[in-house]
Amino acid sequence: MNHMKCMYCGKENEYPLCMNCRREDVFEELSRVLRYYQQDRTDNPYLKAYIEEVGSGNETYRQFVDVLSMINDPEASYYICLYHAYLRDDMFEDLAIAYVETHEFDRKAQTVLYDLLSYYMFSDFEKPERWVRMIMERENVALELYRLAATYYSLVGEYDLADKAISKAIEILGQNQIEKRMLFGFSESERKKLDELSARIKKYRVGRPYWPSDLERRKKIIAVYDKKGIQHPPFEKTRDVKEATAIRTHYGHTKESDFEPITEYVGDKISDYCSFWCNEAFALHNHKDIYEIAAIRVRGDKIISRFQRFIRPWSAGSVAKRDVARKLEIPEEDVEKLEGVYDVIKDFLVNLA
Ligand SMILES: [Zn+2]
Repeated sequence: MNHMKCMYCGKENEYPLCMNCRREDVFEELSRVLRYYQQDRTDNPYLKAYIEEVGSGNETYRQFVDVLSMINDPEASYYICLYHAYLRDDMFEDLAIAYVETHEFDRKAQTVLYDLLSYYMFSDFEKPERWVRMIMERENVALELYRLAATYYSLVGEYDLADKAISKAIEILGQNQIEKRMLFGFSESERKKLDELSARIKKYRVGRPYWPSDLERRKKIIAVYDKKGIQHPPFEKTRDVKEATAIRTHYGHTKESDFEPITEYVGDKISDYCSFWCNEAFALHNHKDIYEIAAIRVRGDKIISRFQRFIRPWSAGSVAKRDVARKLEIPEEDVEKLEGVYDVIKDFLVNLA
């Protein structure tokens, strides 16, 4: 039999986590420490030794989740969900739905649902419908989930339902011990978000409905609006998806419609912001080698500084290196002479700070 040490208590046994340590509080602590190791150092000597041996970062976190999957403990499934939510990978949706459907609608299930909705809300306008309905029908729902429900309804033109979800959230804000009804507990910022959302719903109701920033999602939202008979601008009217001339790269201009938002901003027009952008080399592995980064700083609608540099690709294999050489039209050996990422990042931060 193959023996190893338990990563939590150091006891020799067959698994990286012994039977005794397969407990809720241990899962919680391990999940937190392994995910945020740099900020959240631990006093546990066995865990320290484990991290020293396998290294910190996403890979360690992944290995921990492999251990959780292997021991097949029902309590562990929540932490497996959290991990896939964090990665935003393909497995997350199925795991999250299974979790929410087979568990009591407690804080954990609601946290999973929160992640699920935040993940899909701006990219798929039909899928979240039944999750949001669940929020409206259940008891003891957290304030943040009502906010997400209201946001979703505001996007798909269900303004009455959106207002109803907002009133439920505001009702919680007026209660004593509101922390029991919040997932994350930032009541002041929630209040502000709800106010902004209310104002937006009013605008959508009387003016133009929510209108995504890129064409692909416009197509999707039009399908929803047409089904509900909601007036919207014609699809062809794309003048507001303008070409961003701010960032000029080796290739020329990058269209604004080519940018993919991480999370979409739906508030009023902003005039002070930084915009970041990078180019990656072709690679066969799934982490990308970046070879160019650029950014602009905008204040009062005017570009006040720009930054653009080439970078020696981080871990470029020969395929990536050839690709960079071809794209920059330089000899392959010159790719090695580009500046290293640590130097460029320093300048980058100085320029945009
Ligand atoms: Zn143990």
